[in-house]
Amino acid sequence: MPKPKVGLYWCASCGGCEEAVVDLAEKILDVVAAVDIVFWPVALDFKKEDVEALSDGEMTAAFINGAVRLSEQEEMVHLLRRKAQYVIAFGSCAHLGGIPGLANLTDRQSIFQYAYRDAPTVVPDDGIVPRQQVTVPQGDLKLPEFWERVRALDQVIDVDYYLPGCPPTPTVIANALTALLEGKLPEKGAVLAGTRALCYECDRAATKPEKGCTLSEIKRPWEIIADPEKCLLAQGILCLGPVTRGGCDAVCVKGNMPCTGCFGPLDRVRDFGAKGLSAIASLLDSNDEAEIERLVNSIPDVAGVLYRYSLPASVLFKSAQTKGDAP
Ligand code: SF4
Ligand code: SF4
Repeated sequence: MPKPKVGLYWCASCGGCEEAVVDLAEKILDVVAAVDIVFWPVALDFKKEDVEALSDGEMTAAFINGAVRLSEQEEMVHLLRRKAQYVIAFGSCAHLGGIPGLANLTDRQSIFQYAYRDAPTVVPDDGIVPRQQVTVPQGDLKLPEFWERVRALDQVIDVDYYLPGCPPTPTVIANALTALLEGKLPEKGAVLAGTRALCYECDRAATKPEKGCTLSEIKRPWEIIADPEKCLLAQGILCLGPVTRGGCDAVCVKGNMPCTGCFGPLDRVRDFGAKGLSAIASLLDSNDEAEIERLVNSIPDVAGVLYRYSLPASVLFKSAQTKGDAP
């Protein structure tokens, strides 16, 4: 019986998700033995033409990581959608827009202005910014278009399943591959990780105050030496475990770092940032307006904390989209 054909592709991404596949260590050999990898530009010399040559639906699954920022990425994910029976958004960037999605707090012109003109490392400023088309003696060179906005994968194509995480953990990846190979995938649209909040699987949960924590001070991880046994939230460190989907085995918390929310919201939560904000509001140990303002202002970069992985999928961004603000 022929092996299932699988493709892997990256869009606007840091490369960490590709690393995560390699981090499967010896399990990667089982994967390679069980599937026929027909596209994986970062590791194997396949080209777009090889994907085009496949019949529609011939690929069993396409694992796509990264957000969609360029016209080339948009074209490739449409092609992979056509060729694959299942499209799996791999990692926070594909799932919710991820870290690159924070660029939606600004616009293309400002990004180019800073990256190619104002950044201290740009010396001298020669006024050159990327253009879509340049004519050189050898002919016309074309670059992909840099869209105005970053989008999550399902804002561009239909997605069957989501593998959350920045990057997804080896266990989550291995479980998803096993489910795919054994034909035991859940209902379409499922996020292939835990169904309960991270606190439920955190070793420190027993030290979380029973009546819930209250924060009279918000500390950053480097400001204190956190007790490695005690709930970080109870120590004043903003840990997003209560509002974040579990399934990662609390790897960051085990390393004495707070959860920053990369597994995204739980089912039925429409907007991770809004949920996080409401959780923080319920933790603040004051009814005094000035004190509440002081506490909230002590959170550096509130938008970056609450929407670190999900700005393009937020209600705010979706409403901007309907006003014709994207791509
Ligand atoms: S999800 Fe995280 S590791 Fe994966 S590409 Fe995005 S930023 Fe990198
Ligand atoms: S708030 Fe963070 S440290 Fe505390 S129990 Fe939840 S995940 Fe663990």
